[in-house]
This record gives sequence, C-alpha cells and structure tokens, in this order.
Amino acid sequence: MIHVMAEKESPTPHVVVLPFPAHGHINPMLTLSKLFSHFGLETTFAISHRFHTRLNKLTHLNKLTRLPSFHFATITDGAPSDLPKAPFQAFPLFITPTARAAVATELRDLLAGLSPPATCVVADGLMSTIALDVTAEFGIPVIAFRTYSATCTWATVFLKKMVEEGVIPVQIQEDMEKEITSIPGLENLLRGQDLPVICRLDPDHPVLNFYITETSAMCKASSIIFNTFHNLESPIISKFSTIFPKVYSLGPLHSLFKPHITTSNNNDTTCITWLNSHHPNTVLYVSFGTVVCLSRDQVMEFWHGLVNSGKPFLWVLRDDSIQSGDGVVDSVLRHGVPAERGLLVDWAPQEEVLAHPAVGGFLSHSGWNSTLESISEGVPLICWPLIADQTVNSRCVSEMWRVGIDMKGSCDRVIVENMVRDLMENKREDILRSTAEMANMANESVKKGGSSYRDLEKLIEDIRSMSLNN
Ligand code: UDP
Repeated sequence: MIHVMAEKESPTPHVVVLPFPAHGHINPMLTLSKLFSHFGLETTFAISHRFHTRLNKLTHLNKLTRLPSFHFATITDGAPSDLPKAPFQAFPLFITPTARAAVATELRDLLAGLSPPATCVVADGLMSTIALDVTAEFGIPVIAFRTYSATCTWATVFLKKMVEEGVIPVQIQEDMEKEITSIPGLENLLRGQDLPVICRLDPDHPVLNFYITETSAMCKASSIIFNTFHNLESPIISKFSTIFPKVYSLGPLHSLFKPHITTSNNNDTTCITWLNSHHPNTVLYVSFGTVVCLSRDQVMEFWHGLVNSGKPFLWVLRDDSIQSGDGVVDSVLRHGVPAERGLLVDWAPQEEVLAHPAVGGFLSHSGWNSTLESISEGVPLICWPLIADQTVNSRCVSEMWRVGIDMKGSCDRVIVENMVRDLMENKREDILRSTAEMANMANESVKKGGSSYRDLEKLIEDIRSMSLNN
C-alpha cells in the first residue's frame, strides 16, 4: 500500500540530455537517451538545429518518435550559419564565449518550459560549464557524460599539471618518444606522441584552455558516465572514484542498446549488398570518422597502399574529408579499381558493417566510438590517429589491449600495404586471440548481470531517486 502511494505521488523523472555538437558525441548520447526512454524515463534530447537536420538525412529519426517518452528539443549551437565545410575547422566556432552564451540562454529557456520539470541534465563533459551554470538556477544536478575513453579523460584531468610542469607544449621534433610521467597510472603507457593532440598547443591557446576549463568544471558534476566497460579500463575507471561519488561505465553503449531496441537506423543497403558478395574475414573496412580531414597526398598514399595490398576494401570517404580536392583524386579513386575489389561510399552503416562476417579488419582514425564498435565485434584494427583523443586510443589498442596495430604518424603507401598484410595475414593469429577475448568481455558486460548492464540499472535507479528528492 505504501509502495503504491509513493509511486502515485512521485514526480515523473525527466532527463535532459545535452550533447556537444559533433557526430562522435551525439551518437553515444543519443543511444543512452533511447535507453533512458526504453526504461521509462521521460527524455528530452537537446540537439542543435544543424545536427537534427543532418541526422535526419542519415537515419530514420522518425523511428525515435515511436519510443515512449523520447523528445527532441532543437536549440542553437551558437555558431554562425555558414560554417567551414571541414568539421574540424568548425570546432573553434562552437567554443567562443558568444556561442556558449547563446547555448546557455536556450538551455535555460528549455528547462524553464519543461513539463514535467527536469530531474537532472546529462551533459557532455565539453558542455560542463554551461550545464552547471544553468542548472544551478533550477537547483537540479548535472551528470557528466565524457564521450572519450576513461584513459584519455584521465589524461585530460592532468592537462593543467602538464602545463605547469612544462610537458605542454609537446615539441613535435624533440618530445615524441619521451615517456610521460605526469599522469598517475599511465606512466608506462604514454609517450609525447600519444598524448591528446591538444597537448601540442601553446599553453595560452584557446582550444587547450577550453579543455582545461571544461574538464575542471566537469569534475564538479554529481557523477560521471563513460562509454567503456570494466574489463577494458578498470584501473583507470576506479581512479575516477577519487573525484566523483558515482562512476557509471555503460559501454559499449551501442551493444547495450541492441537487445532492447531492434529498429535499424540504416537507410542504405549498398555496403551490405557489396559485403554479401565477399568471403568471411576478407574485407578491410576503412573509415576516418566524421571529423578528420586528409590532404590529397594522404588520400593517394592510402589508395595505393590499399590497392597494392591486394585485399578487398570498403572505404568511407566523405566529400568534406579531403582538403582542397580538385576532382582528380575523386576520379582516380572512383574509377581506378575493379568494383569487386574496392567500394567507396560517403557514409556507411558502420555498426552493421563491422558486424558483417566479410569484414576482417578496420583501418580507422581511432575515434573512441569506432574503436569500441570494432572491439565489440572482434574486428582487429589498424590505427591512424590524427587529432583529439585518437592518439591515446591507438596507443591503448596496440599496447594495452593488443587488438590492433598503431601506424601513428606515418602515411606512406608501402607502410599502408605492409600494415594491411600484417593485419589480414602475417600477424593476424596473435592479434585475433586478444581481439576475440576482448569482444567476449565486451559482450558479457552488456548482458543482464554484466558490469555495464548493472551500471545502467544503477544510473536509472539513481535518477529515479533524484526525482523524489527534487
Ligand atoms: N559513423 C557511421 N558511418 C560512417 C562514419 C561514421 O556510422 O560512415 C559513425 C561511427 O559508427 C561512430 C561515429 O560515426 O559511431 C564516429 O565516431 P568516432 O568517435 O569513431 O569518430 P569521430 O567522428 O568523432 O572522429
């Protein structure tokens, strides 16, 4: 009887999710939001107008409206309407004080108008300052969601210390091989070249300062969520308990989500039809994510390396991913190889591609989502990191988890060819052993009773009890 009364009187828990406007941030936060909604929480996903339009083109967003209690709220990203074509050039425009103030204003208006009122805001770690300032006015907590690995996030906690110790800026000539001893727990892992790429910036650079400020604000959130799993990063995950009273490791989120919501988001079947015509484990999937931009020469080195390796490949090459493309690269790439040997697309349903039996390897830029998606499908990686957290991820892939090889820095057709042969033939057996073991642990973690599943249950329970206390 008491239980029924309590349920009847308790306010409906309502989570507002605030991602940073970039695909690799929106993807996992949207997945988590769908899970919230599936497990009965009212969920409002505060997405930028620009990304809402973009996602609509790529996926069946309308399927989301079938989820109970899931809503999109479109707000500004604060940046000018005419952004540069290359996504990485747009980044600084999202972090100007003017852009951030505009987002804060619209978040404030959103929270003021919500019914039922928001219980908490789950904010991207890079949106921490905005989220903490605005929620303070409403007296509701912020749960941070850092979309990097726990290891890379831990490295960013020590950015300020590294500036003070003179480790930052990492000098491209002198410091690349230098062991980094400033980050407790990672002393034997990271060299200068493995640190997040912002560590190469001058201490007064606005982008570096943005990361320092947001990381320090994030550490004031009530708890933190990672898209990782215990068996992958346990020693570092536990270090976050010294900062946050609660740490939730929910990864791989896309696998945690799959058994609950079965709708496919895939609009396009070109890749899957092409993969169906290939033998198991023979195809190399190539994608450098949604932000990285390659020079014309880099594209051509990869192209020749891939063709010379003799392995069939499926390559995602976005039109905004080649700097000053003059059409030559385009025509060589699209007409230079027999259709059965290579397929070029500008977008692939990556999760489905990695799960396809024909895919035997992934040449990746080491974005965190791509890394986790590959790990959970047991697909070994060749890493070619360029920006952000990618250099840390590629180091972990090759040295800590041993699920792939790190090509860091080099971009030469002979190296590409050799790496592809190593991954698909010569060193395959060794790498596959640890890859299979890791995939198994990833998949166990998301099953009922697994560590990520339990952490999701705890998170939902904690949000429900917040709604009772508000
Ligand atoms: N992605 C996709 N199809 C593509 C390219 C990317 O579905 O053709 C997805 C991919 O599955 C991943 C995300 O976009 O979830 C990219 O995130 P990641 O962290 O790997 O890299 P970023 O784009 O942030 O550099």
